[in-house]
Amino acid sequence: MGLSTSAATRFLKYVTVDTQSDEQSEAYPSTPRQLVLLRQLVTELQDMGVADAGLDQYGYLTATIPATPGKEQVPVISFIAHVDTSPEVSGTDVRPLVHENYDGRDLVLPDDPGAVLREVDNPELADQRGNDIITASGGTLLGSDDKAGVAEIMAAAEHLIRHPEIPHGTIKIGFTPDEEVGRGTQHFDTARFGAEYAYTLDGSKVGDLEIENFSADAMTLTFRGFNVHPGYAKGRMVSALKLASEFVHRLPRHGLSPETTDGYDGYVHPHNIQGGVERATVKMLLRDFTAKGLDDKARMLADLADEVVRPFPSASVQIDRKESYRNMKEVLDRYPEVVEHAKTAMERAGLTPRFREIRGGTDGARLSFMGLPTPNLFAGEHNIHSRLEWTSVQDMDKAVEVIVEICRSWAE
Ligand SMILES: [Zn+2]
Repeated sequence: MGLSTSAATRFLKYVTVDTQSDEQSEAYPSTPRQLVLLRQLVTELQDMGVADAGLDQYGYLTATIPATPGKEQVPVISFIAHVDTSPEVSGTDVRPLVHENYDGRDLVLPDDPGAVLREVDNPELADQRGNDIITASGGTLLGSDDKAGVAEIMAAAEHLIRHPEIPHGTIKIGFTPDEEVGRGTQHFDTARFGAEYAYTLDGSKVGDLEIENFSADAMTLTFRGFNVHPGYAKGRMVSALKLASEFVHRLPRHGLSPETTDGYDGYVHPHNIQGGVERATVKMLLRDFTAKGLDDKARMLADLADEVVRPFPSASVQIDRKESYRNMKEVLDRYPEVVEHAKTAMERAGLTPRFREIRGGTDGARLSFMGLPTPNLFAGEHNIHSRLEWTSVQDMDKAVEVIVEICRSWAE
């Protein structure tokens, strides 16, 4: 079908609003500048005729497109994207550039001669021949993560409103702040939102359909040693610092680490070590796609820690394991229709859905466990959190088409 939408036009406007979130802030949203774009989106939705568009006290934007006649009983589905951009790269004065009709040439970003987007470093550009690539100008990120998703949902809303002949149930829209600082769903009220199912538009390549993510735990190991004056310590002192180091030293070298795994392989990752002779702590991240794999890793670490302290009667280790987040597949497997409709929609848009696993957590995973099953769909984001971030006009249009087809598919 190949529908030409307002996604790119909207996107070029949204990226010029600085919406960087801030890890250090204790406010919600973490930065007031996110509200500038959120308020602008409320106005645009109201102008489109979405009467109930509004922000709550936390800055969550919610809006409803009523069902077409006779489709009021169709399950309420929703589309969600986040407005903030990463704190890692500047989002001030973003100057988006459209490189029309991409033909494999180097894309030089004018504000920094070192910033060049080359196909050899970015193999995914090869699929973009003939398309119009959007980048920033070299000094900032672009913000396709996740303003591409925002623009696509807005363009899809506009399309549905302009084409009442497309049947759909009640459609909810949700725009959230602070995803990049891990607080995107902190105050999100799923009951008030009123959707039964959701899709986040926050993925990369056209066709990507993400239904699995890591299950994640954090583990803190506290080693206790025995301190005495080092001059008179023979046969008595046990250094907690050395126990902790020995533990880290004995971790697997040829696997089970972030630097040696990809795909479906999980890992254990020491990311902080602190302490002295009396007491030392090692902080670990545990990642796996299954609950069993996560438990196995926790047991391996506990056994290893025990082995390290066993030769020293005055030493001990205490282990605290905390759940961080869980694989949304556990939830999505109970609602196969959510993924089925996304698959159907992509096929109708001429795409081959590609199931991809996320080696991290997502707002969709958190929402899934909050009672709102939420897979993640491609939005056309590439090189995110980078000055070489890019997306394409045609990929954004494809995402709009997929949203519209999902709505249609649920209504059938
Ligand atoms: Zn994102």
